[in-house]
Amino acid sequence: PPVYVGKYDEIVTPTYKALRHKTLTIQQITQLNQNILWAANAFPAAVLILDKNFIIQWCNRNAKTLLGIDSKKDIGYKIFNLIRWPEFYQYAYKGDWQKPYTTYDERDGRLYHLKFEFTRYSTDNILLLCFDNTQLESLRTTQQDFVANVSHELRTPLTVLTGFLETLRDLPPEAISPEQRVHYEDLMHEQAERMLAIVTDLLTLSTLESTKLANQQSVPIASLIEQAKRQTEVLSKGQHQLSWSINPTLSVSGNAHELSSAITNLLTNAVRYTPANGQIEVFWGLAEDGQAIFSVKDSGLGIAPSDISRITERFYRVDKSRSRASGGTGLGLAITKHIAIRHNAKLMIKSKLNKGSTFSLIFPKENITSL
Ligand code: ADP
Repeated sequence: PPVYVGKYDEIVTPTYKALRHKTLTIQQITQLNQNILWAANAFPAAVLILDKNFIIQWCNRNAKTLLGIDSKKDIGYKIFNLIRWPEFYQYAYKGDWQKPYTTYDERDGRLYHLKFEFTRYSTDNILLLCFDNTQLESLRTTQQDFVANVSHELRTPLTVLTGFLETLRDLPPEAISPEQRVHYEDLMHEQAERMLAIVTDLLTLSTLESTKLANQQSVPIASLIEQAKRQTEVLSKGQHQLSWSINPTLSVSGNAHELSSAITNLLTNAVRYTPANGQIEVFWGLAEDGQAIFSVKDSGLGIAPSDISRITERFYRVDKSRSRASGGTGLGLAITKHIAIRHNAKLMIKSKLNKGSTFSLIFPKENITSL
């Protein structure tokens, strides 16, 4: 409007004001609208707006990632043209959406676990959410497997123990010679020790998983290796050729107790899985790229490629009876791997079946406290 319109001013000014106010309100609503769209787009699930006939009105970015539904070309199509599971169709039309609909979908060689939730938010519109529950499901499976594994591991020694106790209780004392009794007691003791070792390792693992690395200090690894050396020699009973190449001054930051158990574990494994007359070479020093390396190379049984990726899993053993016979709990490498991760170090495993293995702990340069 003109700046001054004489006697019409009284009419023009309030109209102009109202117009300005409306423009501002429209701007604010547009901004809010934009913000809501951005938020919906950033939502960590697939979000779809459907009309009452299940025709797609809008969808966010994750609809493409999770369901392959593209906001550029699929809007205006019925959802069932794009998600074709008959159960999904039945669930949607049943209209009872109190419980979510869950299913598996295999895409690009990956198995997804999906959870769908429908909500009618107005007479004409339906909100469809789809969550990727893959990680949650695999966590649940891992937990179930873990409980099953622990129960199985403890059940075997408990069964043996109960068997001997029943024999001792039910047989008349004169039926068992004192030597036989001692033999039974030894076997029972062995089984009880095995259970104790499993429970102790499980507690160690749970502490490693649930606490932060404490008591960090500069750890002179050479002195930890020196302590572990004696243990290794006792275990080897002189049956292996042991050689040590140790940098006496190289230290890394970390927790001495944890590093000691990782080192001991790799050394005892080398002895346990290397037949008599085999060689074990231990190295602690700097690599060419400046990282610090503790490695144990053995000429033992070796590990098949398919097993290498799994041996750091809890209770995974290549040869169950051999591991048990040598007092193994199946948890040593899981513990070692955890310790490595807590120290920003890597546990590297190289192995050839029937040729031998090299287990290395590689510490980054930043962890080195003295050379
Ligand atoms: P265990 O108590 O059974 O030794 P670990 O977690 O320490 O448990 O090791 C898991 C499995 O990895 C072992 O049962 C064994 O099959 C394999 N393994 C570990 N170290 C070696 C090695 N140096 N040579 C060959 N196999 C090994």
